[in-house]
Amino acid sequence: MAKPISIAIDGPAGAGKSTIARRLAKELGFYYVDTGAIYRTVAYFFDLWGISPKDIDGITRYIDELTVEIEYDEEGAQHMIMNGMDVTKDIRTQEISQKASLVSAHAIVRDMLLDMQRDVAKRHNVIMDGRDIGTVVLPKATVKIFLTASAEVRAQRRTDELIAKGEKANYNEILKQIQQRDYQDTHREIAPLKMARDSIKLDTSELDIDGVIEAMKKIIAEKVTL
Ligand code: C5P
Repeated sequence: MAKPISIAIDGPAGAGKSTIARRLAKELGFYYVDTGAIYRTVAYFFDLWGISPKDIDGITRYIDELTVEIEYDEEGAQHMIMNGMDVTKDIRTQEISQKASLVSAHAIVRDMLLDMQRDVAKRHNVIMDGRDIGTVVLPKATVKIFLTASAEVRAQRRTDELIAKGEKANYNEILKQIQQRDYQDTHREIAPLKMARDSIKLDTSELDIDGVIEAMKKIIAEKVTL
């Protein structure tokens, strides 16, 4: 088999990475790997154990008790399996978002997850999204795209999303959380969120989903014949 194609999408929280990557993966027949979900699973595990995501001693002591696996259902949707349990839905809370951002700063956590991310890309054509895919996980990715949008636009999108789901949402609070996660994700020592040198930046502030998909397809088509 020819070397699989890998498309790395990085960018800050709420830039639309997962919505876009999921749709593109479906259209191209690629596997979609949401790496944020992997860090969320780790955060969820320590949350259940009552260990703070900042408590490196506790994390070091209990990390061997954790197994994380990625599975795909027949529709191609990614499921996160924590110690044999499907936690896909449990990891989607604001609290776990913040905790994932803190737990992901530890080298012991990032090292544990590196091979599992690379393994999927070795075996399949993938669209993988995260913060360090183009810089650390897949430095030789076929295509690298950095998706971004202003913090205000990202907060507004997240607010609309929650309201559409019938949940409570406070724009100012969400904006504050997004800015806090941006700060944590860009200022950590290991694998901080940053654009790879050979990445193409796409600002989605003024684009709707279809516009972003079109722009991404153009970028991809310049590098790969699909
Ligand atoms: O993308 P998502 O919001 O689900 O990611 C949750 C958190 O996981 C991020 O704020 C980030 O700190 C961390 N993360 C990471 N590296 C990745 C993907 C996510 O550090 N590749």
